[in-house]
Amino acid sequence: MSLVGQSLTQALQHPSAPALTPRRVAVIGAGAAGLAAARALRRRGHDVVVFEKGPRLGGIWAFEPDPGDDPLGADPVRPYSALYDSLRTNLPRDLMAFVDYPFDSSGGGDDAWPRFPGHAEVLAYLERFARDFSLLDAIRFDTQVDSITPADGWRVISTRQGRQREEAFDAVAVGNGHYAVPRIPSLPGMGAFPGRVQHSKTYRRPDGFRGQTVAVLGASASGLDLSTEVATVARHVYWCADAFAQLPVEQRVRGNVERTAAVAALLPDGGLRLRNGAELPAVDVLLLCTGYRYAYPFLPSGLVDVDDNWVRPLWQDLLHVRHPTLAFIGIPFRVVPFPLFDVQARWFAALLSGDVTLPEPDTLLAASERRAAELRAAGVAQRHFHQRSLDCYDYLDALCAQSGQPPIPDWHRDLAAAVLAHVAANPGRYRDRPLPTFGPTRVAAGTA
Ligand code: FAD
Repeated sequence: MSLVGQSLTQALQHPSAPALTPRRVAVIGAGAAGLAAARALRRRGHDVVVFEKGPRLGGIWAFEPDPGDDPLGADPVRPYSALYDSLRTNLPRDLMAFVDYPFDSSGGGDDAWPRFPGHAEVLAYLERFARDFSLLDAIRFDTQVDSITPADGWRVISTRQGRQREEAFDAVAVGNGHYAVPRIPSLPGMGAFPGRVQHSKTYRRPDGFRGQTVAVLGASASGLDLSTEVATVARHVYWCADAFAQLPVEQRVRGNVERTAAVAALLPDGGLRLRNGAELPAVDVLLLCTGYRYAYPFLPSGLVDVDDNWVRPLWQDLLHVRHPTLAFIGIPFRVVPFPLFDVQARWFAALLSGDVTLPEPDTLLAASERRAAELRAAGVAQRHFHQRSLDCYDYLDALCAQSGQPPIPDWHRDLAAAVLAHVAANPGRYRDRPLPTFGPTRVAAGTA
């Protein structure tokens, strides 16, 4: 059990804040988080407007085959989606699904879809979710939120087809995602590097890497997927991350993929200096799988600040400590995203209906600072403060208990543990290896 989750649950047993009864709620984004928020808020009778700057719902799952000519993904608006052509989920669809809307024929899926489906299936699932819960009429497409400021409630300024509009809302649920602004490491020598530098946000397929020597930077999910895919056509792939620095020599090379320490500097001839002092010969391409930055360009700084990827001041990674009508759906990562969005959204909807009683703002701030201090004491880097993992279930349990929601079923936690073991036992092949079913998800015979 997370210490913080426990102490906050205890704190909520001492109600002190008044119930809130807003009528109009702005939801930013029609990705999975925004859709979950729209459903939860409407179920509680709130009047919801979902602002979506793109032409489609689904957020990153609305795949864009052509990311444009912007290899570092510097444009803050396009592309909307960071997904590559071959992407299949890294969670089985049982765990991906909103808990009460299965990813099978009893919900928004198909029993014959793979357990680890492709992006097109996830988009179809989200489209069915929006249809089945009648959310489409709440979404304003092609409408970008430019600014949100506190003003006896909230003043929201948005732009659609060049025309700005200002409106008042009682509450705001921010679901703008955090896979839009690439994190580009500032490596010495980057300006003089003679090769191509690209971020995974704009990677779609391996064609452009044929015969090339490629350095893939970063050992997270995209680093794993892209180093594997690029290696099918590249001459040689250096996969560089601190996680590999201690690997014994015999485990460093698999096929044409060589795992090395992280890159410390780029050399003028295209070579790389590594953090362990070694140097690699010239590479043609640097493929940065270095993640993303949280960004809230529509919120005034001072209200919300992002400090080395730590968004603050938030309580439970969810609620603004001084403005309890401003919530952020989907900030934690390394979690089960859709169930987490749903639980957070229901929590916020319950709060706005007066069914969650808040401690005083000072208590919220103290709890938020206490969690940061605990993470720091445990040696967690600040940019990982929103990272959870299997303890996300403790976090979800706490939110469910605070807001009168049924807990996430036990099979979910059991399957999550089994998936971690499954991925560790079948690196690179886990998506096509049989995985036991734990819960009610329907899986057609013969489906891995
Ligand atoms: P997004 O999907 O990014 O949606 C945010 C929406 O907000 C977008 O539609 C955007 O256009 C809109 N928006 C942003 N700013 C504004 C504004 N100012 N005005 C109006 N609209 C705005 N999760 C899984 O569960 N399983 C997986 O296998 C998985 N694989 C992933 C692979 C990759 C490569 C990445 C990057 C992520 C993956 N995820 C996966 C995590 C994924 O991000 C979540 O599943 C989820 O889709 C995020 O939803 P979201 O709504 O928070 O954000």
